[in-house]
Amino acid sequence: MEQINSTPKPLAVETTALTKRYRSKAAVYHLDMKVPTGAIYGFIGRNGAGKSTTLKMLCGLAAPTGGEIRLFGRPAGDPMTARRVGCLIESAGLYPNMTARQNAIAKAKCMGLADMKYVDKVLDITGMGHTGNKKTKLFSMGMKQRLGIALALLGNPDLLILDEPINGLDPEGVREIRQLIQRLNEEGKTFVISSHILGELSKLATHYGIIKDGSLVEQINREELAHKCTDYFRIEVADTRRALPLIAEHLPGVETEVYDSRNIRLYGIKDGAALNRLLVENHIPVYASGFHHMDLEEYFLSRMDGTHHPENETNQEVKNV
Ligand code: ATP
Repeated sequence: MEQINSTPKPLAVETTALTKRYRSKAAVYHLDMKVPTGAIYGFIGRNGAGKSTTLKMLCGLAAPTGGEIRLFGRPAGDPMTARRVGCLIESAGLYPNMTARQNAIAKAKCMGLADMKYVDKVLDITGMGHTGNKKTKLFSMGMKQRLGIALALLGNPDLLILDEPINGLDPEGVREIRQLIQRLNEEGKTFVISSHILGELSKLATHYGIIKDGSLVEQINREELAHKCTDYFRIEVADTRRALPLIAEHLPGVETEVYDSRNIRLYGIKDGAALNRLLVENHIPVYASGFHHMDLEEYFLSRMDGTHHPENETNQEVKNV
């Protein structure tokens, strides 16, 4: 019994060298994605980075040209895994002249679901149970997105893959979708969500994957991200090799990170002025210094651009030139 309990859960999604080429161009290239079971995985990238292509492959809507996808430890094509995945990719594929319920029944029939009780259940879960005879073409964007999620929930999947679920929604609609995702996640469902709206995504996500030009540049969990965004004090000096021994001698508890030949980041420092004084008194000119806290959006943007811009890092910084 103990052994069964201690067996780690397989990853909800694991891709190995996943690749999709359109003619000679690779839209997705050698992607190794790992989504733990129970996670809300925020998938981030600029326009054309390869998010939709990746999500389509996970949902079985596009065929990889290379690599492998495993869902809950089994190959993606396995009929046992297909039933465990619900998708909302690009437009929700709704019939405009049908009501919410008619749309859900049509999708349930397509999926071969015999028991229509799930239709009412998913409509209730998503708050779409009271839309009556109203045709889908008259729905607001938020209602359409919620209906799209309702359809993705048919069959009670364990993994939901949502491409831009909050795109085009007003703040109220965004909040409703966020609360719905949080509730379903608390009930045990795993999510992979792509979004451009980084601030909103960061309210939800437990894990992040950042994609750039078809390749994954980073996978990071919420705690690691918070650590990376913690406050630091940056100094710019002529030569870090002269400053470092002095800092080590006088501030032994402070963690240093040499950013480049002129810039050092110091973590755990409280008195920036004292450090400046120490360096200047020891004939090491300080060209610039300041405290900095990177917010999540800034961090993501720096990773998506693949460049750091230390000169733009803080507006609290003082130039001492
Ligand atoms: P967006 O946020 O704009 O939707 P994305 O990150 O989802 O962008 P994808 O739609 O996956 O990006 O596109 C990745 C690249 O693959 C782009 O350069 C796109 O032009 C290309 N691409 C996507 N689908 C096709 C296709 N069917 N045929 C040819 N090229 C395609």
